[in-house]
Amino acid sequence: MPAKSVQSTYGDKIYEGKAKILYRGPKDTILHYFKDSATAFNAQKKAEFDGKGQMNLKISVLLFDYLKMHGIESHLIKQIDDRTFESLSLKMIPAEVVVRNRVAGSLAKRLGEDEGAILNPPTVEFYLKDDAKGDPLVSEDLMVSLFHQKREDLLRMRELALKINSALLVLFQKAKLNLIDFKLEFGKTPGGKILLADEISPDCCRLWDMATGEKLDKDRFRHDLGDLMTGYQIVYDRLIEALK
Ligand code: UDP
Repeated sequence: MPAKSVQSTYGDKIYEGKAKILYRGPKDTILHYFKDSATAFNAQKKAEFDGKGQMNLKISVLLFDYLKMHGIESHLIKQIDDRTFESLSLKMIPAEVVVRNRVAGSLAKRLGEDEGAILNPPTVEFYLKDDAKGDPLVSEDLMVSLFHQKREDLLRMRELALKINSALLVLFQKAKLNLIDFKLEFGKTPGGKILLADEISPDCCRLWDMATGEKLDKDRFRHDLGDLMTGYQIVYDRLIEALK
């Protein structure tokens, strides 16, 4: 449940996802409440981690603020409390946009390639956001011809995703972290502008320590590689240091 002090701000529950609950906020905004739960493998593996909600909120707000300073707008309006931020209400585009700088995860599995191989230039992929179908990888053409997306929107998301990647690579380099891949979601304003939405946290990025190769992201949970929160805390501390 949201903190009592701000509960009066919360309107109706709109949606409960695997890691967040969305509530209607004041003046047609959305409140994103970050839970402690983690899921993997299409929710077949589940667990709770004390403080994960607060940590992912802190990291998302930090990264959205950083991107804003670099000319990339997001849906974020402001942080409300240690588990909640307020955002614009966007019409979400049903795609998970994955940027990859190195081979890992499903790509390594699908192509039988070693994790860690450099992708030059970075790649952008579209996955259909549809839990029932298991979020399948879909070509840009099929996104248009079967899933009713506009070609110009896909081009814009691709352009934004690569711009976000370039900006994040500079920050993570300073933090001595290798940004292997990450997932973004986008939505449209009533005026038709496409903005970065959802969250950016170690739940949806792969981050490896540059010196040791240690995995500091959700793969710790997916593959039982060590305490999840220890990894997330290192990512946060390094980001704070890099921004000084
Ligand atoms: N990702 C995500 N949500 C998803 C699927 C992937 O946030 O539903 C992120 C994942 O954490 C990784 C990147 O997108 O940083 C690429 O994931 P991949 O396709 O390799 O799939 P996974 O191995 O996570 O199943």
